[in-house]
Amino acid sequence: MVSPLDFLLGLFSLDIGIDLGTANTLVCVRGKGIIINEPSYVAIRRKTRQVTHVGREAKLMAGKVGKDIQIIRPLRDGVIAEFEITEAMLTYFIKKVHEQSFIPIHRPRVVIGIPSGVTEVEKRAVYDAAIEAGAREAFLIEEPVAGAVGAGLPINETRGSMIVDIGGGTTEVAVFSLGGIVISRSIRVAGDEMDEDIVQYMRSKYSLLIGESTAESAKIDIGSAYSLVEEKTKVLRGRNLITGLPEAREVSSIEIREALAGSVGIIVDTIRDALDETPPELVADLMESGICLAGGGGQLKGLTERIAREVNIRTWLAEDAMTCVARGAGRILEDYDNLRQLLTGLERGSTHH
Ligand code: ADP
Ligand code: MG
Repeated sequence: MVSPLDFLLGLFSLDIGIDLGTANTLVCVRGKGIIINEPSYVAIRRKTRQVTHVGREAKLMAGKVGKDIQIIRPLRDGVIAEFEITEAMLTYFIKKVHEQSFIPIHRPRVVIGIPSGVTEVEKRAVYDAAIEAGAREAFLIEEPVAGAVGAGLPINETRGSMIVDIGGGTTEVAVFSLGGIVISRSIRVAGDEMDEDIVQYMRSKYSLLIGESTAESAKIDIGSAYSLVEEKTKVLRGRNLITGLPEAREVSSIEIREALAGSVGIIVDTIRDALDETPPELVADLMESGICLAGGGGQLKGLTERIAREVNIRTWLAEDAMTCVARGAGRILEDYDNLRQLLTGLERGSTHH
């Protein structure tokens, strides 16, 4: 029951959805859409572990700082390796939401999307961090579920649907029916691994050592999973490992595709595995509803065509694929009565509902 006071406070309060991604953190505010979209990076002083930068600034510093500063991606592998750093990052982003609103707002209610592999202890840490950061109420949701809501999949229906969310650290494959996950797979092969593939390829083929950001931009600009109508080239800069000198080298999209082939193959195999385990009636549904790709990595050129061809199911990229999880998390509170069963509880029912 809502007391009159709570009702009044509610008018000035904020419902927000947060995607705590391995690569990017997004915040979606009801009525405003995505208001924060920054890399999940934190810079700290190595000695004191004091946080100096969060988000975009911290990512820009990666690979360019001296020994006394350390750049941390606290969720890099889809697990929360560093509680305090994760908490500092979450606090920073929630405070930023407050600073951006004009009216003095009441503490927000937040729904946070977390990787599906996280443990009970990690969930607890995220929940506590949100409350610590000023949330009035905090709820957790598994990222594939939030992603499916954000992508508009009919996950509450009997008709089955499938999402493949390819992020930075993890790829999550999930088949839904009747509001629940029927089959799921989570692997640590996603965007970061693809960047690493390109670094390795340049090193072994050209003895050229390139940085992670250079590899990432090659992947985004000319990377692909299927032959392109028009193949492209790009100049990559790094250091020649033999001469020790700076060097620029032009590479083609065909070469980058070759570099990415291993990771793309693993993602395709994981989808095939999940389909193998899916009950036949649901597979029949999937043939109609198709496979929905989400996440930054889902945008890799030619990936929808490649998957469709390999598993014989129509495959499509969600609209605004990188924001699905945050938008989906935000929507839960809008339609709390119908969607609350999608939230994942903490043990001991500690979200006070
Ligand atoms: P997470 O949810 O794990 O934070 P995101 O969904 O934000 O991850 O996706 C980040 C990943 O997507 C990064 O590895 C990034 O390089 C990759 N990415 C972004 N845009 C593209 C693109 N157009 N093609 C291929 N990969 C992309
Ligand atoms: Mg994600």
